Formats: sequence, C-alpha cells, structure tokens
Amino acid sequence: MLVTLTASADSNRVQTALQGLGLWTTALSDRSGRTTAFWIQPCSSAVPVERIRAVDGVADVSCQRSPHPLLDACAGRRTAVAGVSFGGGAAPVLMTGPCSVESEEQIHLAARAAADAGARLLRGGAFKPRTSPYAFAGHGRPALGWLREAADAAGLGVVTEVMSEREVDAVAGAADLLQIGSRNMQNFALLHAVGSAHKPVLLKRGMAATIDEWLLAAEHLLASGATTVLLCERGIVGFDPSTRNLLDIGAVALLSQVHGLPVVVDPSHASGRRDLVLALSHAALAAGAAGLLVESHPDPRCARSDGPQALTPDALAKLGDIVARFAAVATADPPRMHPPPSAPEAIHTGLS
Ligand code: PEP
Ligand code: MN
Repeated sequence: MLVTLTASADSNRVQTALQGLGLWTTALSDRSGRTTAFWIQPCSSAVPVERIRAVDGVADVSCQRSPHPLLDACAGRRTAVAGVSFGGGAAPVLMTGPCSVESEEQIHLAARAAADAGARLLRGGAFKPRTSPYAFAGHGRPALGWLREAADAAGLGVVTEVMSEREVDAVAGAADLLQIGSRNMQNFALLHAVGSAHKPVLLKRGMAATIDEWLLAAEHLLASGATTVLLCERGIVGFDPSTRNLLDIGAVALLSQVHGLPVVVDPSHASGRRDLVLALSHAALAAGAAGLLVESHPDPRCARSDGPQALTPDALAKLGDIVARFAAVATADPPRMHPPPSAPEAIHTGLS
C-alpha cells in the first residue's frame, strides 16, 4: 500500500500518526530529499483505508500491490557503496579495470590507471564465466587477494563477480560490491546466497531478460538482505553481429528517469569493441546512468579475456575526462524533482 502526502504535509507527523495506527512505514523521497509518500510494509496491522485517508497530510492511499516493493522504496534515493554515492542526483561514478585479474603486476598497473582516470572502484574477475570450458576462467581465490591489495594501494573500492554459492563468503570478504553476471541474473539460489551476505550488489541484466524480470531479480536480492542493488545494463541480444550485444539505452532512461533507480552501464560488453566504448559511455551518461563499469587493461593486446573491448590507459584517461565533465554538471545543477514510484500495475506482467 502506498500513502502519498499533500505538498504541505509534515512528513514526520504523518509518519507518527501512521505508526500510531499500527502501520510500518518506509519513507519515499523525491530527488530533493523531501518525503512524498510512505510505503506501508506488509507486516503492518490491517487498518481501514478511510482511517488512513483521514490522517492530516495524507493526499491519497493506493492499494495496488507492487511486485517489487523493496526496490520501489529505493526510488529517488542516493545509495552508498564503499563510501561512494550512486544515484539520487549524485555525480556519475567510474568503475574500471580488466576483464580478468591475470597477475599481481597486471592488477596493480590497472588500479593505478583507474585511479589516475578518476575511477572510484576497481573491477576485475577472479571467477570468470567462459563460454568454452578450455578458456581462461580466472585465478579464483588468490586473485581476490591481489585485487583487494591493488585497490587498497590505489584508494579504490572493489567490484568483482561471484559465480557460485560456494564462493559468496570469499568474494564478500574481498569486495565492496558483489557482481552478479548476466548469465546468472535468474540464478535464484545464487541471488539468495548473495543477498544473505548483506552487502551492496551490482546486478547485470540477463542478455535476454525483460526489464520486469530484471527488476524482480533485484527484488530477490533485496528480500534476502542485500543492502542495495545497482542495476547494470550490459547490452541484450540483438540480431546484428556488428556489435557484441545491443545497448538498451531506452532501458537506462526508463529506469533512471522514470523509476528513479540507480542504473549503471557497461559499454564494454554491450559493444565488444573498444572504439565504441567512449561514444556509448557518453550516451549512457546522457540517459541518466549513475555510473559506468568499463573494461580497461594495461596492455589489451596481452589480455587473457575480452582484449578487443578493453580500453588502453590513454583511452581510459579520455573516458575519465568525459565522466568528470558529466560530474561537474551533476554537482552544478540543482537536483531534479522526481515523480513518485511508477504505478506498480504498469510494470507488473504477472510473471511466475
Ligand atoms: C564481466 O563483467 O566480465 C562479464 C562477464 O560480464 P557479463 O556478465 O555482462 O557478460
Ligand atoms: Mn569481460
């Protein structure tokens, strides 16, 4: 149930009155931080709608049930990962590093280049999903330690993929942001195990997943304890092999501008080509992305995975300038007003 407030309502008084009726509330705010509505948690007492409507400051009560109430409660809010703000009008955040952590030396060089470009988090795969069973699948647990040390030395946070329930504790011990890869977006057992680690999660969109399926996967994470979820658009399957995937920029605009959710973009896996990464990064930031997850490598010619899409250190520096320009605009502009969470029925398709 959603209780919306009048423009002049004193949200603290409304909240106290609702709590007095036996209702458990979650405040929803617009981008300026003003509380515009309360989501009533399902564990609340049963109270007649008329009594809620009669509370001073209540404009309306909507009884439509959202399929993802916990995610809706994140709308318009700023969230923090490793002390870095995402969404809610915060400056866009650059996260970068190699596809795979290949050696201690490689990840230290990558971390230095990432920090020089203004990145705040270092990415790098210790556990890699590979189409071929004979391809390099990462160094596993030792690489988690190298990644953490390199990030600490450069003053960065860590984002890395967790592929199996068995590795959740090890990855959660090393990373600030746990990545669920595209291939695992609907691996519900993994989502529940990762949620139970009570850490921030970056949820990549399945390469053939609808937006509804993606949002419900995020709800699985939040319902099982994830402290926050960053949605990551990384391209969906298209019909044209000229690019590796098809960046769904409309989904980025929809989620960031209409739903008010923190969505980051991975232009590397979306295109598969380093010569397109800067242009797609521009597009993503213009569409409202809260950040970018970009592959870069000290020497992409030697990369053991995804070399063709990895930025060189020079190109990464150029990307850093682009992100800084968008960040300057975000900090100069007053926060945009944000509509309340979209009508749940408009995004619910009755999936099982
Ligand atoms: C990755 O980030 O290295 C990766 C494997 O991404 P995705 O799950 O989007 O393919
Ligand atoms: Mn990769």
